[in-house]
Amino acid sequence: MSVLVSGATGFIAQHIVEALLNENYKVIGTARSQEKGDNLKKQFNNNPNLIMEVVSDISNVNAFDHVLEKHAKDIKVVLHTASPFHFNTTEYEKDLLIPARNGTLGILEAIKKYASQTVERVVITSSFAAVYDVEAPPSKDLVYTEKNWNPATWETAQKNAVMAYCGSKKIAEKTAWDFLEKNKNVVKFQLSTVNPVFVFGPQLASSSVGDTLNTSCELINAVLKSKPSDVLATSIAGEFIDVRDVAKAHLAAFQRENTVGKRLVMSNGPFSSQTICNVIHKDFPQYDGKIAPVAKDTDVDNGNVSFVLDNSATKKLLGWEFISLQKSVDDTVAQIAQVKN
Ligand code: NDP
Repeated sequence: MSVLVSGATGFIAQHIVEALLNENYKVIGTARSQEKGDNLKKQFNNNPNLIMEVVSDISNVNAFDHVLEKHAKDIKVVLHTASPFHFNTTEYEKDLLIPARNGTLGILEAIKKYASQTVERVVITSSFAAVYDVEAPPSKDLVYTEKNWNPATWETAQKNAVMAYCGSKKIAEKTAWDFLEKNKNVVKFQLSTVNPVFVFGPQLASSSVGDTLNTSCELINAVLKSKPSDVLATSIAGEFIDVRDVAKAHLAAFQRENTVGKRLVMSNGPFSSQTICNVIHKDFPQYDGKIAPVAKDTDVDNGNVSFVLDNSATKKLLGWEFISLQKSVDDTVAQIAQVKN
């Protein structure tokens, strides 16, 4: 039996692939080009349990057909992680909304066409962005749980890149739940989603560390790029979760019965740029005088939160303690420091 991982070259997906290989699963990964697929295989020492297929653009709803057709008998589990995560566009439909929605629809339609009775579990990598209402006025009484949905529509999502990304994740996730409802008598699979907040932590391979990191880890890298004269934001920038917990949650999302039909909202609490900076000063004295200074008493101020995220249901379901902000920042920074030296 094999696990199909779409977007296997991504920051989160590489950790998922490693976790799967460590548990002796056979993995079929997709990458946008042969070269990217070959590089990933090399990174895993050409482990024979990892095979790669090319899916060049998930905007095409037929993009996954050849993969499901070829491997229909083997694939029991599908983990759909591929989706654009960046804010560098003004072409919101083309670059964010269409690939997110069509990627999700396309992989599910391909399962229906070629593997309706063999695929048993599907996990969609959604996001807290599908839960969080970007335009809601900040309030400590605004409580999000696994039950909330961002109100974005295809049209309202096109105001700016942040709204387009959040809209893309909401629309893609909704597409999956609606597909299952419509096709529950045709397909065999059960669905779960993993909805992380900002994901921090080391890249699986140091070779992925460049001047700019993936969108979420760049928030830590940006603190390392700050100047001693900079004053960093002490207000909460969002919530964080470590990539190793996100990878583990993808496995739990298909291995366990208690995760069927669930949205797993992955967060281990809020952070600000200054909180990250303080952790760096505490654990990496070599940055003293080189980046923005440490600030006193700047730990996240719960009096000033713009929302509350209550993911106690997910924590209870999963049952392990998530990696702390300090460890997540430490491991991210240690890897960057090692590559840059
Ligand atoms: P990455 O950018 O590292 O990974 C995204 C993956 O999707 C890459 O493999 C990328 O390929 C692939 N991809 C993007 N667009 C297309 C396309 N049009 N056609 C084919 N493949 C495509 O980001 P992350 O690992 O951070 O994100 C992975 C998933 O997790 C995404 O669904 C994202 O929305 C979600 N997520 C991420 C969070 C975070 O903080 N990192 C938080 C919440 C959710 P390539 O690199 O070759 O372009």
